[in-house]
Amino acid sequence: MNPMNAQHLAREKYNRNLLATRIVSGVTCVEQLLYGILISEPKSMVQQIHYVSALILCLLFIISMYLQKQTTKKIDAYASVYEMATPLIGMSIALIRILFHQGPLLSIPTVYLAVIYGGSVVFLYTYAQSVFLYGTLTFLAVLLVPRFQTFDSSNPIIADFLINGLIAWIVAAMNYKRFILLEEKTLLIEEQNKRLVVLSERDWLTGLYNRRKIDEVLQTLQSKDYSDGKNAFDVMLFDLDLFKEINDTYGHQVGDQVLRELSFLVEQHLQAEEVCGRWGGEEFLIITKCDGIRLAEFFRQLIEKTVFANNVHITASFGVAHCCNYESANELVKIIDQRLYKAKNLGRNQVIST
Ligand code: GH3
Ligand code: MG
Ligand code: MG
Repeated sequence: MNPMNAQHLAREKYNRNLLATRIVSGVTCVEQLLYGILISEPKSMVQQIHYVSALILCLLFIISMYLQKQTTKKIDAYASVYEMATPLIGMSIALIRILFHQGPLLSIPTVYLAVIYGGSVVFLYTYAQSVFLYGTLTFLAVLLVPRFQTFDSSNPIIADFLINGLIAWIVAAMNYKRFILLEEKTLLIEEQNKRLVVLSERDWLTGLYNRRKIDEVLQTLQSKDYSDGKNAFDVMLFDLDLFKEINDTYGHQVGDQVLRELSFLVEQHLQAEEVCGRWGGEEFLIITKCDGIRLAEFFRQLIEKTVFANNVHITASFGVAHCCNYESANELVKIIDQRLYKAKNLGRNQVIST
């Protein structure tokens, strides 16, 4: 997996865990409060544990709300530790409640099972994180429960802790594996979609917009209301002069290279809002919000003075028009085409706008 995908996965996992933290800490905070107020014996140790738990969970809820609003660029070690805060607290509460359980322990209490299995399904942890979580909890349970609690020797409670810890870890690992596979598939689909968009919009040789896309842009712009001048634009169509001779003299491959270099040159001089596309073989269309005649003249001179591959010199003829004078994009294109034709007839290497 490349580092960018790994970082994307870490971010996705972090966001999911933050959401789970908010839900789980919010619900269990209320649950702990209710236990403290309604069920446990007033002023008992158990009641105090419930109140402290509720307070910690409430803090966790507030921190998660705050972190959710932060747009952290990178998931660092602190974030990875914070992700584990809710189950760590839940596990501590469950363990403390077992240790302070009154009377002999007949089996693993439900709260403990709920915490380990609930956590393994609701949260997403890397294999290392879940080994740490379930390993630590199981180790502490096996170590502390026999010291604090009495239970019958025929009761396999230690084995139960070990087995349930292991199963909970397996569930967490499977949950994480499924998440990775799903995310990888989603990423792949997104990448393929991006590639498809490029293939459908870009010209294979020059990388500029293809005719379909540039036509679409033109139609969209032309359909806007530009009566106040805000959406107004100029369009130019230019065609390389005597390009057939370049191909005949230097070969088609050099011709292709010249087209690539020319596209790169034009793109480099366009402003963010300006759009350029390959209209046909050696014809290019540019849409600009600036003065089209001046821009066309600038490009005409730029092309004329540029030396292309194999020391090739070329010129271009331009037809320019202002959008607002025409009803439709088709009419606009027809006019610039006529002006380009006129530029050719008048001797090439010039800009015609009337
Ligand atoms: P004019 O000044 O009248 O435009 O002359 P021209 O030779 O440029 O015009 P013409 O339409 O006769 O020929 C255009 C040439 O452009 C013909 C074709 O070989 C070349 N051409 C079109 N597309 C490509 C391409 O993708 N690669 C290469 N190498 N040449 C191309
Ligand atoms: Mg030509
Ligand atoms: Mg042509």
